[in-house]
Amino acid sequence: VSGVAQTIVADLTWTGTALEPNIAVAVDAGGKITRVGPATGASHTRLPGRALFPGMVNAHSHAFQRGLRGYGETFPKGKGSFWTWREAMYGLVERLDADRLRTLCVQAFREMRDAGITAVGEFHYIHHLDPAALDFTLDGVVLDAAREVGIRLVLLETYYRTGGIGQPLGPGQRRFATPDLSTYWRQIDRLAAALEPSRESLGVVAHSIRAAEPVEIGELRREAQARRLPFHMHVEEQRREIDECVAAYGAPPMHVILEALDGAAHVTAVHCTHTAPDDMARYLAAGGRVCACPLTEGNLGDGITNHAAQPEAGFRLALGSDSNARIDMLEEMRWLEYGQRLRAESRGMLADAEGSVARGLFGVATEGGAEALSLPAGRIAAGAWADFFTVDLAAPAIAETPPERLLDAVIFGADSSAIAATCVGGRWRSRAVTSDKEL
Ligand SMILES: [Zn+2]
Repeated sequence: VSGVAQTIVADLTWTGTALEPNIAVAVDAGGKITRVGPATGASHTRLPGRALFPGMVNAHSHAFQRGLRGYGETFPKGKGSFWTWREAMYGLVERLDADRLRTLCVQAFREMRDAGITAVGEFHYIHHLDPAALDFTLDGVVLDAAREVGIRLVLLETYYRTGGIGQPLGPGQRRFATPDLSTYWRQIDRLAAALEPSRESLGVVAHSIRAAEPVEIGELRREAQARRLPFHMHVEEQRREIDECVAAYGAPPMHVILEALDGAAHVTAVHCTHTAPDDMARYLAAGGRVCACPLTEGNLGDGITNHAAQPEAGFRLALGSDSNARIDMLEEMRWLEYGQRLRAESRGMLADAEGSVARGLFGVATEGGAEALSLPAGRIAAGAWADFFTVDLAAPAIAETPPERLLDAVIFGADSSAIAATCVGGRWRSRAVTSDKEL
């Protein structure tokens, strides 16, 4: 799948620190950016009334959970929790067939593109149509759905062996089964041979401390390093997971993982909602990255992660839409900051070195995600994939904002309806517009 060679000139282009006029972005037929510089001469693809930004990277998604939207928000028996929600999610998993999964993935991936997301890390664990056959049929369904939508996919293929520490898989978990490491790596090899390298890549995943033993987590990460693949894992989203881990291993999951791993480069820990500050500091010092999912963490009542320990010069953070209860990266960004403000009773929590919160957050949503997924993306620079989104400068939420305030206005004042189009590897797609004929 190759793109179209083109030179793009928008009214304004994000060059890493500011929006600038008269910037030409040259893209080759292979879908990569070859040059970024002053616009000269003709034969440009002009984008009047648009600002061009690097596409946003969604570092953590379970696309099928789009099927729970509108469900699980009533509480007839009183208060719910993550664990009651998980029962509803397992119910959905048992009812899924290949067609339904494909429909849900296509819906989620389309919404992502409409929200300015050009790459997604799909943390995928529903592998089997028939759990007894270990068929891995549903891995291919996710790939097909991403191809249909044209979103860049990092298939974060998930190892899931136990249904809780030392427990067999429960009835709702049988479709997740990877019974041993050799079965897992055979499937990784099969997937690697089936990928379209201009759009698709792989990542290695241990679902959580509930689903894999520390020795397996260490082996998965070691082999991921050897294959130059990123490694992801859910870590300390819920206090119950920490209690169970302390009971089994004498320490919380982050502590156990740090003991099992040799460093944490190319490791992304998802959530870290309840991670102890000293464990977090050790993890970050070892090179680890955290993926926050503010809308899902809010929806599930997980709690608010303390990001105060993040290094000042550049956060090692990424963002994910996780349960896809809502898909809007602008909202994820501001809630990442608002959660910290509410927690600390202070403002400007995730500002960059010059004090700009919007720039700090946008770096998390673009380069932070790209680094978590080991993608050359998330910036408009030679050598990166030609993945972009455009903002409609006439959109009501941001109209008449001067260029130097535009990123702030988009992140704090707009939603994805201000996004006009996305481009993945040089191939454009306009945002879907709802018909107003009947209004
Ligand atoms: Zn998740």
